[in-house]
Amino acid sequence: MQAQIMEKGYADALVIGGGIAGLQAALDIADQGYKVVIVEREASIGGRMISLSKVFPTMDCASCITTPKMSAAAHHENIEIMTFTEIDSIVAGADGHVVSVTRKPTYVNAEKCIGCRLCEYACDSELPDVFEQGLGATRAISVAFTNAIPQKAVLLADYCLSCGLCLRACPTDAIEFDQRPRQERITAGSVIVATGFQLNSLTVKPQYAAAQNANVISPLTLERLLAPHGPYGRVLRPSDGKIPDSVAFVLCAGSRDQTIGVPYCSRVCCMYSIKQAMLLAGSLPMADITIYYMDIRAFGKGYEQFYQMAKAMGIHFVRGKVARVDAAPHDDLLVHVEMTEEPVDCVRRQKHDLVVLSQGMIPQWNPAGVSPVHIGEDGFVATPDTADPCATNVPGIFVAGAAAGPKDIVDTIADAGAAAMLAGRYLADRAGKSRTPPSAAGRSIRLEMAV
Ligand SMILES: Cc1cc2nc3c(=O)[nH]c(=O)nc-3n(C[C@H](O)[C@H](O)[C@H](O)COP(=O)(O)OP(=O)(O)OC[C@H]3O[C@@H](n4cnc5c(N)ncnc54)[C@H](O)[C@@H]3O)c2cc1C
Repeated sequence: MQAQIMEKGYADALVIGGGIAGLQAALDIADQGYKVVIVEREASIGGRMISLSKVFPTMDCASCITTPKMSAAAHHENIEIMTFTEIDSIVAGADGHVVSVTRKPTYVNAEKCIGCRLCEYACDSELPDVFEQGLGATRAISVAFTNAIPQKAVLLADYCLSCGLCLRACPTDAIEFDQRPRQERITAGSVIVATGFQLNSLTVKPQYAAAQNANVISPLTLERLLAPHGPYGRVLRPSDGKIPDSVAFVLCAGSRDQTIGVPYCSRVCCMYSIKQAMLLAGSLPMADITIYYMDIRAFGKGYEQFYQMAKAMGIHFVRGKVARVDAAPHDDLLVHVEMTEEPVDCVRRQKHDLVVLSQGMIPQWNPAGVSPVHIGEDGFVATPDTADPCATNVPGIFVAGAAAGPKDIVDTIADAGAAAMLAGRYLADRAGKSRTPPSAAGRSIRLEMAV
């Protein structure tokens, strides 16, 4: 028997991805009076930014900026958020884009769950905590992270022991083991793709030996180690919990390399590595910190000054290409660097006890398989119109943030505002009211979402 597809009705805009780009775009469109649906595949909105420690160049706390946006979206009268939901297809049309989604079972009734976490505390099944980059453990049933939105438990069926402990612990009878995936269909006036990025594998370059050494880590792992509410509350190296006293950053460890299919620059790695080095210098004042780089791309407002400040703080910048990382005694690492500014064939070897690889940024989602949206040679959403950098090849479908290519937060937020403006203009044009203020046009075409 074919699964029934539930018609959810009409939304003025559907935003795919609840990271900072999706949240900003959704808020900007909703503030104009339009109805917006955010579709997020994870259990919480917030994207990558909610897991960062601080942000360059201001060193503001990342979650202090992200959490209010998450909360504003969750409480906005014009925004509906669908978490734990995957996009199945987008059929574009002049009368609206038909978006089919699958709502994955959480095995918890979201209406009844009060986020008390008693199920999580009762659960006996342990698994690596994805939010903490595997450094801590979580339970088969849990709220995604402390400031997750929504604050609802999700049960991961693959890890469930079917012991019934959560069922007995839940004070509101919210556990529903019989939930099944639900397919729903939404017709959206416009769509914004804000599906962001992921990092390529830590092992994409075997010469950096990340598969063999727990102390060769991802910058996202270091973000969690540096976060005040991170897994250990301080920086300890993963293999043995030692406080590191010599840390190396290897830039371009997964970008600007034809051989691994990432010929482009990932743009933000120079700056976030400098940021992380400065934060490390603050929390480990005695540590020796070295950044191995090919060239430093400090492209944004205040970024050059930020770089100069890092140098003044005593962070070593060594121009050279890291050729190899080898294991050394006591879980340490030997970094081999081809010194590009010294005589030919000069290779320097330096021992460190923690190595951070700047992995390349690659797209998180490929819309081309399920929609008419084109992707570029780099795999990110193509933006064919230089004058409208948020427009895709499909009228009414726009792109925001890192879904279109590697971007920092400042550019992502500016991009999201531009995409929201284009979506608003598109909706107003469709309503034949391009000369009326967008909010008025929005109100006139707004239709209530079917519940
Ligand atoms: C280690 C590190 C440190 C950084 N530090 C800084 C910094 O200090 N300052 C700075 O300016 N920038 C920093 N950045 C860059 C910053 O993370 C990005 O600019 C920002 O996260 C981009 O936001 P986004 O919303 O476009 O993408 P994301 O944060 O990737 O969000 C995308 C969202 O879309 C969801 N999604 C993906 N596919 C689908 C789908 N098919 N269906 C539904 N949902 C989907 C994802 O789950 C996610 O929630 C850093 C990056 C890294 C890797």
